[in-house]
Amino acid sequence: MVAAYLLSGKECALIDMGYESSAKSVINDLEENGLGADSIDYLLPTHVHLDHSGGCSSLAEKYVNASIRVHPKGMPHLADPSKLWAGAGELFGSKLMERYGKPQPIARSRLREMNDNEEISLGGGLTLRSLWTPGHASHHLSYELEGTGSVATGDAVGIIYPNVPVLVPTTPPTSFNLPLAIGSLERIRGTRPTRLLTPHYGVMIDAINLISDNIQALKEWAIKISSLLKEGASPERIGRILTVESARRAGKSIDTIPDYLSMSIRVSVLGFTRYLENIAKAA
Ligand SMILES: [Zn+2]
Repeated sequence: MVAAYLLSGKECALIDMGYESSAKSVINDLEENGLGADSIDYLLPTHVHLDHSGGCSSLAEKYVNASIRVHPKGMPHLADPSKLWAGAGELFGSKLMERYGKPQPIARSRLREMNDNEEISLGGGLTLRSLWTPGHASHHLSYELEGTGSVATGDAVGIIYPNVPVLVPTTPPTSFNLPLAIGSLERIRGTRPTRLLTPHYGVMIDAINLISDNIQALKEWAIKISSLLKEGASPERIGRILTVESARRAGKSIDTIPDYLSMSIRVSVLGFTRYLENIAKAA
C-alpha cells in the first residue's frame, strides 16, 4: 500500500515509512541491503498521516543517529501522536487502527523543522530540496532530488495501485483544499520532473502527463461531487458511485476492487465533500 524510498549518497535518507505495524518489514529490508543501525541519517515523512509517519517512532529507535525532519505544523503530532491517533480512529475504526499500529511519541531532541525550499545534501552529488505542497494536508512536503528529474511526491499525487490501474485523488479530511492541491501539482510540474516517486504506489514515468491527469481528476471530482451533493446524495453514496466508476474505468468488476482502494475512495470523498461544504458555507 505504501512505498518508502531510500536515497543514498554518502548519507542515507528514508522518505515515507509506512505504518507502525510495517516498520519491522522496512527495517528488515534495510538490513538485507546492508544498512545497519548507524546508516540512516534522515527520516523524512512527507506528512504525518499514519501510512507515512506511523513507522517513524520505531525507525527512530532503531536508527539512533537519524534526524527526523518534518514541516513545523506536523512536528507536534510526532512528539505527541495522541490527537492524530484519535482523529484517524474516527475515520478508520478500531479494527483497522489495530492493524495500522499505534506510533509512540518521538523525543523533541530528535525532531527538526523542515520548511519550504530547504536543502539536505546527502553527499555523493545527491541533494534533496523540500517543496511545500499543502493541498492534501497543510503540512505536506514533497522532495525534489535535484538535477535528477525525480520528485518524491508524497500524497500531492493521487493513488494508482498496480493491480487496479485507475487514478484516485487523495483528498482526505480535514485539511484538503482544492486550489492548494492544484497549486501543489503545478509546483511539482515547475521542477520539470521526468519521474515521480509516489507512495501509492511506485515510481512513475511520464511525469508531466501524470500531473496533468491528476489536475484533471481533481477538477472532475469537484464537478461530480458538487452535483451529487446538490441532488442530496450522502458522502457514503457518493463514495459508492465513484468506486463503481473507478472499477469501470479500470475494466474490473466491482467485487474485484480491493478493500483498501474502496476505503481510500471513501476517505477522499469525505474530505472532498467537507471541503465543498465549507466553501459553500463561507460563500
Ligand atoms: Zn496522507
